[in-house]
Amino acid sequence: MNLSGNRAIVIGGSLAGLFAGTLLRSIGWQVDIYERSPHTLDSRGGGVVLQPDVVEAFQRAGIPHEALGVPAHERYYLQRDGSIQRMPMRQTLTSWNLLYGNLRRHFPDAHYHQGKVLTNFQLEGEQIVAIFADGTREISDLLIGADGANSTMRQLLLPTYSPLYAGYVGYRGLVNEPDLDPETAAIFTERFVFYQFRNSHILQYVIPGENESLVSGERRFNWVWYVNYDEKTELPSILTDKHGKQRDYSIPPGMMAFAVEQEMRSYANRVLVTPFQKLVAATKEPFVQAILDLGVPQMAFGRIALLGDAAFIPRPHTAASVSKGAANAIALADALVAQNHHVPSALNAWETDQLRLGMHLWKTGQDLGERSQSMYGTDRFDEPIVQQA
Ligand SMILES: Cc1cc2nc3c(=O)[nH]c(=O)nc-3n(C[C@H](O)[C@H](O)[C@H](O)COP(=O)(O)OP(=O)(O)OC[C@H]3O[C@@H](n4cnc5c(N)ncnc54)[C@H](O)[C@@H]3O)c2cc1C
Repeated sequence: MNLSGNRAIVIGGSLAGLFAGTLLRSIGWQVDIYERSPHTLDSRGGGVVLQPDVVEAFQRAGIPHEALGVPAHERYYLQRDGSIQRMPMRQTLTSWNLLYGNLRRHFPDAHYHQGKVLTNFQLEGEQIVAIFADGTREISDLLIGADGANSTMRQLLLPTYSPLYAGYVGYRGLVNEPDLDPETAAIFTERFVFYQFRNSHILQYVIPGENESLVSGERRFNWVWYVNYDEKTELPSILTDKHGKQRDYSIPPGMMAFAVEQEMRSYANRVLVTPFQKLVAATKEPFVQAILDLGVPQMAFGRIALLGDAAFIPRPHTAASVSKGAANAIALADALVAQNHHVPSALNAWETDQLRLGMHLWKTGQDLGERSQSMYGTDRFDEPIVQQA
């Protein structure tokens, strides 16, 4: 149903693109999503802290949202001497897979176009034409760039802005519940568990299973370990995969170079506490992503909007990348309704708060990251740093 008579084109069919597409459809727009990948997007499999904006986006779109994740009731901060600092804190932990699967199933196939790579756009009177690598062109009243960290839309609109390496990577891993010994599993189950030590920290929480299962025994332990590497002398080898290919920002599961993986495993045995050593050892296919910083000074450009990771990449300690995409999309739908679907006024009204949100998360993530990754002279923190993730 195209109640507003307007058409939006969304570039990028991952979470931010699906949030935008779904919420604009909920206010009566016709929306087509164009995704570069020719296949259904396949998660690197990681965990996501479920935040209220994501739940609200699901609610507004009419997607069932009662069972979106696994509860954690408290935080454990493991100490080198074997003791545990406990902190009550309820959170719901979910997976990229579960969110993507639900959003994608809700969005009509006929309007989700795979294997479409945006290369350029052009203004045509009151409308915008999106131009694709296969030579096709699509016209719309609103063009949305939700094309992630390497956004083509951002490169076209703000060519001097691109992500910067934050000075450390996140090694990550997933372990099926039955693959961890019962004693270690008991420490990690339904808890957010941290070990903070000099210049580093590792964390764990339980997330839904590969097929979105929330059933105990079918879920997965999800861990992230932040390790500092010099950008020039160390990072290039970490980001070179097992076939010798240098990757931009991440190496997916099963593709890490043998020597890098072995070094990471042996480092884990030297510096981590026993439960985390066992968790890393039980991980079959660890993966790694460089931690990035990105912020832009502008998100609205007449009839074009940049959102999600295309505009701001807050560090993962904020646990807010996914929810920021949801918040951007909710606010965009609200602004369009408030401005009677007049696109330039709606984008103007939308932009101020979204820039503020992006800047806030960007700054918060940097502060949390710098604190945890540059603590010299102590083997453990006196007080836990309360990371969001
Ligand atoms: C396959 C995949 C798995 C992920 N898994 C996790 C996870 O497990 N945990 C986690 O915290 N985060 C994960 N992320 C990142 C997470 O989705 C983002 O950090 C956040 O949700 C913001 O998403 P986004 O949609 O803005 O950007 P992204 O998720 O990066 O999506 C951008 C999309 O745009 C597409 N695209 C890029 N350029 C073009 C172009 N020129 N034309 C058309 N399409 C284009 C990309 O193929 C991609 O699908 C994953 C991302 C992807 C793509």
